Amino acid sequence: MNEVKAKKFLGQHFLTDEAIAQRIVDSLSGRSSNVIEIGPGMGVLTKYLIAKTELNFHVVEIDRESVAWLHEHYPSLDIIEGDFLRLDLNNLFHDSYAVIGNFPYNISSQILFRVFDCRQQAVEVVGMFQKEVAERVAAGPGSKTYGILSVLLSAFYDIEYLFTVSEHVFNPPPKVKSAVIRLTRNGVTSLECDESLFVKVVKAGFNQRRKTLRNALRSASLPLDNVDDAFLSKRAEQLSVDEFVSLTKSIQSCL
Ligand code: SAH
Repeated sequence: MNEVKAKKFLGQHFLTDEAIAQRIVDSLSGRSSNVIEIGPGMGVLTKYLIAKTELNFHVVEIDRESVAWLHEHYPSLDIIEGDFLRLDLNNLFHDSYAVIGNFPYNISSQILFRVFDCRQQAVEVVGMFQKEVAERVAAGPGSKTYGILSVLLSAFYDIEYLFTVSEHVFNPPPKVKSAVIRLTRNGVTSLECDESLFVKVVKAGFNQRRKTLRNALRSASLPLDNVDDAFLSKRAEQLSVDEFVSLTKSIQSCL
């Protein structure tokens, strides 16, 4: 892979608007003093985060050139060179933490699935995503964009769509608009059902979202004998989180 292609692969679009950078950093509620920034790049958010000296602050960056630049400009910054998706987050912080970043868009869903996996410690996320992903995450039942991540994340987080960001404030500009969202851990410590089965049911339901749940769940080989017809005749996008929990409980009782 040549240099330009390799950089493209890293989803590098550097934010050039300082006021937006400041606004993103100000959106952190301060719920946890442990903070990790994903993909600091040339540090546009980082410098505002460093200024919050009360934070126990780390960054994780995969691009060697950006890491070298950050070392030079912020010698005391704690930089982890590597892939966020391979980072053992719960080992880095023994307590709760917040995740922030203008995220590399090619791995935005994977970042959110990681957050979901780390939900007992990841108490807050403030992040810039492609607008479309942000809308999907923040969508509620009945909407066409409501999907797997909306259900899984809203089971454990309050989700706010904060603001939209134009493609013209990045270098190079991405093809799509962006948006900043905030996820704040709600009070739910556990769902009243088997959580891994819940994930399986939600994924199976939406993987064939145009089918009724009866057909979608059947093709994922989930037992439906004890499941109410009222659920099975609906499509995944019509169910709230609570209804997905009830559905999971009925499936669980058939296992
Ligand atoms: N925060 C900067 C850069 C955003 S671009 C700004 O707002 O200007 C996304 C950044 O994520 C790039 O610096 C890219 O190198 C980095 N990145 C891409 N994939 C990554 C991964 N898997 N883990 C950590 N950083 C990654």
